[in-house]
Amino acid sequence: MSFTLAIVGRPNVGKSTLFNRLVGKRLALVDDQPGVTRDLREGAARLGDLRFTVIDTAGLEEATDESLEGRMRKLTERAVDMADICLFLIDARAGVTPTDELFTDILRKRSAHVIVAANKSEGSAADAGVIEAYGLGLGEPIRLSAEHGEGLNDLYAQLMPLADQFEERARENTPETDVSIDEDSDDGVRVPTKARPLQVAVVGRPNAGKSTLINKILGEERLLTGPEAGITRDAISVQIDWDGLPTRIFDTAGMRKKAKVQEKLEKLSVGDGLRAVKFAEVVVVLLDAAIPFEQQDLRIADLAEREGRAVVVAVNKWDVEPEKQQKLRDLRESFERLLPQLRGAPLVTVSAKTGRGLDRLRQAVEKANEVWNRRITTAQLNRWLTGMLEQHPPPAPGGKRIKLRYMTQAKTRPPGFVVMCSHPDKLPESYSRYLVNGLRTDFDMPGTPIRLHMRSQS
Ligand code: GDP
Ligand code: GDP
Repeated sequence: MSFTLAIVGRPNVGKSTLFNRLVGKRLALVDDQPGVTRDLREGAARLGDLRFTVIDTAGLEEATDESLEGRMRKLTERAVDMADICLFLIDARAGVTPTDELFTDILRKRSAHVIVAANKSEGSAADAGVIEAYGLGLGEPIRLSAEHGEGLNDLYAQLMPLADQFEERARENTPETDVSIDEDSDDGVRVPTKARPLQVAVVGRPNAGKSTLINKILGEERLLTGPEAGITRDAISVQIDWDGLPTRIFDTAGMRKKAKVQEKLEKLSVGDGLRAVKFAEVVVVLLDAAIPFEQQDLRIADLAEREGRAVVVAVNKWDVEPEKQQKLRDLRESFERLLPQLRGAPLVTVSAKTGRGLDRLRQAVEKANEVWNRRITTAQLNRWLTGMLEQHPPPAPGGKRIKLRYMTQAKTRPPGFVVMCSHPDKLPESYSRYLVNGLRTDFDMPGTPIRLHMRSQS
């Protein structure tokens, strides 16, 4: 994605409505009911042919006291610092308010690119407000109606030239992940270093402890889960420095907190979990130690595998587990049996509540990502293949032995291999499994899906 756009402005100007329009309804969550609020949310946006990241600062109630206004300022500043471009919304029907002036101040000081939009400007009742918005001195305001989808062309027209600029910049700083790897240097396994934050999704059934876990990882300060009632959070993603590991955590939590909107939110959170998996590089499947490997857990873990993500299984609420030793044995056994496709994936016991085990979780996530990105040289693979063939030759249907001649790694993320084979259609599935399992053990690749393709070559 080429750039990041932050939507800022005081409560109720329509930030969420616009965010939803840019991101698509399923990711975001707007609700009239008070109490469904949130901190920063982030989503993948689309406008015409532009693809970008959008951040929403919605969810803070009207600033009724000093501390909340302080928080609003802090949150906005954070969003501004994260973004390349800020879209400042005012409510055209209400006109420019003193709070809007406060935002103008922040934006002048901190943001390189500001676009002003007068929202709710459908109809002539908004004309006066649009004119007032000129007075902010931040450039010509766009007449927008987030609700009716009007003015998006004008938004596009303002974003377009900036997008070009950022795209150019991105081309100049080509990320290190794109380094080409010398296949035949034969210096063993290589792991490209990452310049971008690692995308991690935390998924699991309701009440597994996802919110608690993410809160613990992020620390209190960033989250605004303050004492004021109603300030909860359902961040779509947040970027953090996880003990030196730049990480963007995608979260499906916090979406079922209010009884009133229970049903609607449940529905959202399922789809959102799937979206989170698609965004992620590493998927942390969070289980509740008391009820591990439920149907829903298995489904999501299987989905992560099919989507080709690196997987870490974290077993939560370990603090209240009475029979830790026995439990761990049972868990490993169930894991092998129920999720053979994820064989070797790390299983980490944690307590989101106390923070125990989070270090190991972080290490497992980092390792899973390394494995996911791993590249094995062709020379190494073919030496290995020769050994595997000797140890356990392929079958010979009708007296004619199937030949596997040559092997190379075709891709990473997840690792994918191609083997030249005389009769791919006759090679039994069990032989492919033998090779995949061998790759996993011999090249130390736990917790990542491994793709193996047989290509015909007689
Ligand atoms: P936020 O607090 O800034 O995120 O604001 P919301 O997105 O929750 O919107 C606040 C209210 O304004 C909601 O009732 C929306 O339906 C309404 N709203 C948002 N955009 C428009 C618009 O373009 N026109 C009108 N008339 N109402 C809008
Ligand atoms: P989510 O629905 O997956 O986001 O789950 P929550 O984070 O809301 O947690 C559900 C419940 O489990 C809450 O009552 C938490 O306090 C509790 N919980 C979460 N993690 C732990 C843990 O490590 N140990 C214990 N004992 N309780 C936990």
